[in-house]
Amino acid sequence: MENLERDVVIIGAGPSGLTAAWELKKTGLSVAVLEARDRVGGRTWTDIVDGALLEIGGQWVSPDQTALKGMLDELGLETYDRYREGDSVYIGADGTRTRYTGDMFPVSAATEGEMNRLIEVLDRLAAEAGPETPWKHPEARALDTISFHHWLRQQSSDEEACNNIGLFIAGGMLTKPAHAFSALQAVLMAASAGSFSNLVDENFILDKRVVGGMQQVSERLADRLGDDVVLSSPVRTLRWEGDAGTNGGGNHSNGVTAVSDTVTVKARYAVMAVPPNLYSRVSYEPPLPRRQHQMHQHQSLGLVIKVHAVYPTPFWRAEGLSGTGFSASSIVQEVYDNTNHEDSRGTLVGFVSDEKADAMFRLTPEARRQTILESIAGFLGSEALTPEVYYESDWGSEEWTRGAYATSYDLGGLHRYGPDQLTPVGPIHWSCSDLAAEGYQHVEGAIRMGQDTARNILDLASTEGA
Ligand SMILES: Cc1cc2nc3c(=O)[nH]c(=O)nc-3n(C[C@H](O)[C@H](O)[C@H](O)COP(=O)(O)OP(=O)(O)OC[C@H]3O[C@@H](n4cnc5c(N)ncnc54)[C@H](O)[C@@H]3O)c2cc1C
Repeated sequence: MENLERDVVIIGAGPSGLTAAWELKKTGLSVAVLEARDRVGGRTWTDIVDGALLEIGGQWVSPDQTALKGMLDELGLETYDRYREGDSVYIGADGTRTRYTGDMFPVSAATEGEMNRLIEVLDRLAAEAGPETPWKHPEARALDTISFHHWLRQQSSDEEACNNIGLFIAGGMLTKPAHAFSALQAVLMAASAGSFSNLVDENFILDKRVVGGMQQVSERLADRLGDDVVLSSPVRTLRWEGDAGTNGGGNHSNGVTAVSDTVTVKARYAVMAVPPNLYSRVSYEPPLPRRQHQMHQHQSLGLVIKVHAVYPTPFWRAEGLSGTGFSASSIVQEVYDNTNHEDSRGTLVGFVSDEKADAMFRLTPEARRQTILESIAGFLGSEALTPEVYYESDWGSEEWTRGAYATSYDLGGLHRYGPDQLTPVGPIHWSCSDLAAEGYQHVEGAIRMGQDTARNILDLASTEGA
């Protein structure tokens, strides 16, 4: 067992932990980043599968993501546009397939009116609540104690409108059924992306990709940190000293020791840069305060299968199709052209979310592949049935993540615990995309949190004389 002494020990080498480490190291503090996996990047992971470069985890960049774009510039990484020429496809609840252009699904005039009205209500609530402190909204408690599913049905009796609006947040973002999280959680999701309208606009939210893959953000940061990143080193115990305060936020200065499978790091501060559902994988000595014990049991990851299918050519483009398809009622509820930069092959990416993912995982791998490809073929034609490469990103099976894309609170949890979610406990700070305001659940939020956490520790270190 190696022993190290550093100013700050960071647990987790995803984009948040590595950003925090790099920001701290730039100012002259010493750091060690301990990572459980044998690679950096966490929920971003670019890999070659059967000869095809695939984004197994996070990949898209939207125009408002200024922290991510700044980081890409700093690291010398380029972006390219997602292919979006041609018609999109919508499959309605009765199975009717319709080609369309623009943002609005080809639904009846009445349903379109209801969808536009619901978008307006959600835009207003998102603007009022903002992403920083949604629990301070005057209606926070009422919105947090009703499921998004039931809230939508209080607003509108048009079932197709409710399902389509639900899709953007439930299957599309939180990857939980709309009955499993609150309307306030949906408002936070919208506010964190600038507005609900932005979430509905796939040309905004899924605008660009990183040439060569998103994982390079973490890889390039790790290169800069060199030997200060220790892989295959899951942290099992954090021994800390100091007064935690009632809800955290007590005395910060008495130090912490992180014990992993390969190394022990003695430091003044620790950054837990892992998703909240994994906090309890670490033993804290002494235990965390009651508030954290309770809060962490109310934050859970969603579930989505990200499906990759690679073809000799992007055959749908010849049909005048963009590759984009939506259907709240299909197994694959969203599909997009995900062809790599300057690649002659065509790649599609589809998403199977929450209860539909449960159903797919009950099938054999062969039956699951067939069912999923048939669903994609429903949007783009029978050529979709025979890809050269087929791969399912299965983050639910990853020990060091356990789901996708990120965590959200259960019903009532956001207004109850949100105000304390970032409060440090003695020397222990929390940093991940799951706790972000702007860029919540996204690489943007991970980077912002890493920057904020580094700033907070630097402030403390200067007042406490590090
Ligand atoms: C399928 C999928 C698609 C996505 N699509 C997008 C997208 O298009 N755009 C976007 O912006 N975002 C997307 N995301 C979300 C984005 O990837 C995450 O928000 C981001 O990676 C979170 O970064 P993080 O550093 O907060 O956490 P993570 O990336 O989860 O990093 C945490 C790290 O901590 C490590 N760890 C955990 N426990 C321990 C321990 N005890 N000891 C040591 N190390 C530990 C983990 O191994 C991991 O490396 C997607 C995610 C998934 C899974």
